[in-house]
Formats: sequence, C-alpha cells, structure tokens
Amino acid sequence: MGERIFIGVAWPYASGPRHLGHVAGAYLPADIFARFHRMKGNKVLMVSGSDEHGTPITIKAEQEGKTPEQVATYYHNQFVETFNKLGISFDLFTNTNTANHTAVTQEFFLTLLNKGYIYKDTVLQAWCQKCNRFLTDRYIEGTCPLCNFTDARGDQCDQCGKPMNPIDLKTPRCKLCGSTPEFKNSEHFFLKLSSFQNQLIDWVKPQTHWRPNVYHFTLHYLQEGLNDRAITRDMEWGIPIPLPGYESKRIYVWFDAVIGYLSAAKEWAKINQDDQEWRSFWQNSDTRSYYFIGKDNIVFHSIIWPAMLMGYGGLNLPYDVPANEFLTFEDKKFSTSRNWAVNLPDYLDRYAPDPLRYLLSINMPETNDTDFSWHEYYRRNNDELVATFGNLAHRVLTFTYKNYDGSIPTPGALDSQSRELLDKAGATINSVGDLISRCHFKDAIKGAMNLAQEANRYLDDKAPWKAIKEDKAAAGTSLYVAISVLAGLRTAFYPFLPFSSQKLHEYLGYRDKVQDSGWTFVLPPAGQKLAAPQPLFTKLEEKMVEEENNRLG
Ligand SMILES: [Zn+2]
Ligand SMILES: [Zn+2]
Repeated sequence: MGERIFIGVAWPYASGPRHLGHVAGAYLPADIFARFHRMKGNKVLMVSGSDEHGTPITIKAEQEGKTPEQVATYYHNQFVETFNKLGISFDLFTNTNTANHTAVTQEFFLTLLNKGYIYKDTVLQAWCQKCNRFLTDRYIEGTCPLCNFTDARGDQCDQCGKPMNPIDLKTPRCKLCGSTPEFKNSEHFFLKLSSFQNQLIDWVKPQTHWRPNVYHFTLHYLQEGLNDRAITRDMEWGIPIPLPGYESKRIYVWFDAVIGYLSAAKEWAKINQDDQEWRSFWQNSDTRSYYFIGKDNIVFHSIIWPAMLMGYGGLNLPYDVPANEFLTFEDKKFSTSRNWAVNLPDYLDRYAPDPLRYLLSINMPETNDTDFSWHEYYRRNNDELVATFGNLAHRVLTFTYKNYDGSIPTPGALDSQSRELLDKAGATINSVGDLISRCHFKDAIKGAMNLAQEANRYLDDKAPWKAIKEDKAAAGTSLYVAISVLAGLRTAFYPFLPFSSQKLHEYLGYRDKVQDSGWTFVLPPAGQKLAAPQPLFTKLEEKMVEEENNRLG
C-alpha cells in the first residue's frame, strides 16, 4: 500500500511568459518530487493552473485592445505547451476561468461567511482621478512602512515580504500614471485572519521538517500579529461575489487562486470519472500535501491558505511548503520588461529540456539564491552531462553492442571492485530517494552524478576494450557490471532527466515506460537484446555562450 501525495504548484499569472527563474523556483522541484513518488509506486496528484484573474491581465488587455479572456487564454495555452515540452508532468494544469473553479470558490466563500470568518466592512479604496478608475493593490506603489523599500506594491513588499494594504504605503502613487491617488469609501468583505493567529502558531511550531527559512519566516510573521485582509475588490474581471448587491465587485485574485488547489483536485476527479476521488487527497489524513512555490509566496501558503482551510474545516493542511529562494540571471534579477530573462518558449525552441533541468537541479536555489549563466550552462552540459554521464553510457553501450552480439553479456564471478561498485549503485538509489523525499534536490542529483563518475573510474581500470583481446569473458563481466550501473543511473536520474532516462531505458533493451520500472536497483537480465545506442546528450559549441548573451537587452 503506497503513500498518497498531493502536490500543489504555484499558479502562474497568465499575463506573460514563464522564464527560467519560475522553473527553478517551483515547477521543476515539484516535477522531480512527483516523478520520484510515482516511480516509487505512490499515488500522486500534482495540480496547478493559470491564474487568469487580476489587474495585470486587464491592463495588458486594454493596452493590446483585447479582452482579458483573450490575453489569459493566449498565455494559458503557451504555459500548457511549454510545460509539456519541459516535461513538467502535471496530472491537471487547469485555469481559474472555469465554471468548476467559480463554483468551488463561491461555495468556499459562503462557508467561511456563514461560519463568521468573513465579514463586511467599509474601506478606503484607492481611486486615481487621472485614470478615472479604482486602483487594485498591485497598481499602487509606494514606500514600505516596515523596511522603507521605495517600490513596494499595494499588495506586498517584494523586499521584506510584508503583505500590504495600500493605505499603509507611505507616499502612494498610481502605477499607471504616477499621480497620487485619493482614497474613497467602498464596502468590501474581509477574511478574519486575526482569529486564526494562535491556532496557526500551535500548528506551525511542530513543523520542524520545514526548510529553516520557511519555518522561521512563518513563525516570526505570526508572532508579529495577523491583520484581517480584504478579499473583494472594485473591478469587473474575476469571480462574482455570490450575494446580491455586489455586481460591480469581484473576489480578489489571491483568495480565489489558492482555492484553485482544491478546485483543480475536484476537476481532476470529474475528468477521471470518479467525482469523489478528490476526497482521498484532501480528506484522507494519511495524505501528505506539499506546496511548491517561490519565497515571495510563503505567507499565502504557510499562513493564509492554512487559515482558510482551518476555517472551512475537514480538509488537509499543508504537510510541507518547500519554498525556493530566487534564481538570478547573470547576477541580476530576472526582468521580462527589461529583456533580462530567458523565456521558456525561447529556450525550448533552441535546446533540449534535460540540460536545463540538469543545471537548474544541480544549482537549485533551495536554501540561498543561486545564479544562472549561459557559460555555466555550456560548461556543465559539456563537462558533466556529455563527458561524464553521456560518455559512460555511450562507450559501454556501443562497445557491448558491437562485440557481444547486441546483447547484455553473461557475467562470470565478480571481483571485489565489481561488487563494491554494484553495492554503491544500490546505495545511491536509496540515498537519492531519501534526499528527494526530503526535498533536498541538489544533493540528490549530485549523488547520482557521483555514481556516474565512479563507474567511469571503474571502466578505466577494467579497460574492457583491451581485456577483450585476451579474455572476452572477463571483459564481458566488467561490461555487465557497467551496464548494471547504467540501469541504476537511469533510475536515479529519472526524476531530473526524464527524457534521457527513457532513452537509456530503451537502449538497455526495455520497451515499457521507465517510470514503471520502480524505484529500485535491479540487475538487468544477461542476454537481453540492446537497442542500437545513440548519444544521450549533445555537445555544445563555446560560441553559443556569446550568441545567447548577444540576445539580451
Ligand atoms: Zn518592506
Ligand atoms: Zn493613474
């Protein structure tokens, strides 16, 4: 009986392409985790979707003379295509503009309202005279009252992470025209976050398996005290409030986006012909729920969403919130507007997915910010993927294919060096699995690469291409050992390099899906027919570094 794992991944705003920073922050770690658990035979439900509401989309639509829906649909389709090409294996990637999501969100809203966790109040809402519109939080900027960052947004300060009410900003300004907004009275609904403070502290304290940055940030934040938060806004694009008299207002985008984790599970269940199956992932207390997000999203997943779930009742709280730090690009912050980014569709037009997955895994911003550079991409592709792992596979498989009738040779007695290497392969599968299950992805992939290095040393020592001239059986034995290690590497690398692992699986003579071979070290059967081997990775020319850098702003 396997475990049951729910994986929620941050919902991308459908207002622009995803870049490599987003991939390293949330999508890749979630996918590694999901693939590992599926291979282990556990039941996994990994969901996310496009966040199609919110002001950035309405503004972009106005600028481009389109409807918000057209803009959102365009990017949603792009996300689906690029995640697919990169191998991000969602069980469902949906969007917030569905009838199902609207119904689930409205039901959630009404339940919290009936339980007294949502109340009405009059607020001062920013109004820009010049633009003739109410400004939602992201369209007001000013100075953060906590850290004095001058470009804090009305919904959050990106420097210190403080969620914000626009009225708290010092010297607020309209993001669209720069003028000073006025504040007008408007009636809105509020989530009574303050009433969850003690319950949240009691819940967070024992979560010592959380990453230290997430754990300490969350506890510190709770101890500072929670303020109630408006969950509706004056705008016309978004989920309607399910009560009469509020036709010019909508549910605020952050509130409906987190409910997406639940609505997506329900949609997935309907698609899979078992309406009730979502319950096993949300109500079965053995299920563990993981939320993969970037660090700018911690508060919403370690405090606000858990508070909403506590208020609603009967649904699983997060088990872990493995938030990543940021990836920088050539030592600067990614910025699509300043053309300082590598957008995912552009990357995938030019290169294979696995080298990117490799670099972003071995350099993942797990506990501190890390940097992506084209030079490092080039170097690690050639020195590690091509020269270490790819070369090992290629020289073992082509030599065996040519000299042993296209089949895995039958081994004789194993010497101690051979037995040690096989033991090491088995131990590597166990330790890589243990590291992935604890969300230590960087150490996990290093462990797999380490095994490839050991296998190369073994092969250099045994030199079967020389030994074959005197003792074909002895050479066959060392090739059998090396092929067995390749079978282990196919497993250990699978969550990180799914496309290459599938290829290697087939070169080893298997015909099914590599995922179905299980998270285990099994020696391949002697005599099994190999498929004609091809190189796993492609060597890059050094001039690609300059070419890529020339594309940048
Ligand atoms: Zn701040
Ligand atoms: Zn304005």
